[in-house]
Amino acid sequence: MKVLVCGAGIAGLTLAWWLRRVGAEVVLLEKAPEPRSGGYMIDFFGAGYDVAERMGILPGLHAAAARITELVYADERGRRLAGLRYADARALLRGRVLSIMRGDLEAILRSSLGPGAEIRYGTSLTAIREVPGGIEADLTDGTTCRADLLVGADGLHSEVRRLVFGPERRYLRSLGYHTASYLFEDAGLAAETGSRAVLVGLPGRQAGLYPVRDGRLAAFLVHAAPQAPPPADARGEIMSRYRGMGALVDRVLAHCPKDPYHDDVAQIRMPGWTRGRVTLLGDAAHAVSLMAGQGSSMAMGGARTLAVELLGAGVEAALEHYERRMRPFVLAKQESGRAAARWMVPDRAWRITLRNRLLGLAGLPGGGAVLGRAFRGLSSGL
Ligand SMILES: Cc1cc2nc3c(=O)[nH]c(=O)nc-3n(C[C@H](O)[C@H](O)[C@H](O)COP(=O)(O)OP(=O)(O)OC[C@H]3O[C@@H](n4cnc5c(N)ncnc54)[C@H](O)[C@@H]3O)c2cc1C
Repeated sequence: MKVLVCGAGIAGLTLAWWLRRVGAEVVLLEKAPEPRSGGYMIDFFGAGYDVAERMGILPGLHAAAARITELVYADERGRRLAGLRYADARALLRGRVLSIMRGDLEAILRSSLGPGAEIRYGTSLTAIREVPGGIEADLTDGTTCRADLLVGADGLHSEVRRLVFGPERRYLRSLGYHTASYLFEDAGLAAETGSRAVLVGLPGRQAGLYPVRDGRLAAFLVHAAPQAPPPADARGEIMSRYRGMGALVDRVLAHCPKDPYHDDVAQIRMPGWTRGRVTLLGDAAHAVSLMAGQGSSMAMGGARTLAVELLGAGVEAALEHYERRMRPFVLAKQESGRAAARWMVPDRAWRITLRNRLLGLAGLPGGGAVLGRAFRGLSSGL
């Protein structure tokens, strides 16, 4: 069987790994000119962690993981308001959690593929046709590729979805926030914050930083932006929204590049992910948003589920089983993402205070139950 996968991100690379194990020929298209690095910090647990264990890549992931000891909420003056010790979260998850930069997770997935996997960088597709028993795609490098199955693993703004299922506006549901992230070096700030992730929250906006394993820092910004797509001038929006949040945030803003990662915080909601011999995977099919905090896990869980189903059944039946198995998990995560948004970036000062108090309780004896509710449904079940 030959499978064409559009998108060499977390979903596409994981799918390629599993498909190669079941003997399929895989061609990955990646529009980025070279492997992507950096990105943003990902808390990695649940289905993705389970899949990574089966792939034998957990030691590499732990070696590359950030050594964060505490998540601290601070006020504009940098004074600690509340904190969550990672040891408490780890204990609750029986140690099966790590924090890793998206670029590092992708690099480990990529190297686990081995030399035989073909990734065509700087390449996408422009047209998709159904042909008997498969699909044919015109690629941006001027060639045509025929395959038994095309998988769109090309993220939130999927081109495969647009070409086969119609315009993005039919499926993308903005949660009313924009987010931005970038990596930077600041030895002084890194020394001051140490192994802590520090977040400053004011009503409708949250800005902060995470320590990365190599000594750099990852800025993480989210603000309420109801019914407005992100403007082209990312840096301009960041400066206007996050200035005035205190000295720590100003130091983070001073490192903002011209072109940081910057996007809508959105979910993809579709009635079905498959049309003929084309199916969608990961964020392209069902982005849950950063508010749900398990998008990478859903992408990896979905990739393994799809590959296993393809091993056991004909393509059409496998696609139906894949979707039937994944959909309940996706719907639950999307619902929890919508519910979490108002606590992650509260719109009112009293909500920020309440959130911080609840976090404080989590560190007390028996407080694990508070965290437990927050993490409910995290086990993979896939
Ligand atoms: C700020 C932020 C924080 C997050 N935090 C977490 C977290 O803590 N935990 C968690 O589990 N998840 C988190 N997520 C979500 C997680 O990053 C995504 O769910 C995950 O990356 C989805 O993987 P994917 O492979 O489906 O899509 P993507 O990671 O978007 O990968 C898509 C790939 O397709 C490529 N591509 C795009 N278009 C084309 C095209 N036309 N042709 C060819 N290639 C194309 C892209 O370059 C990319 O390589 C976070 C997301 C954000 C934005």
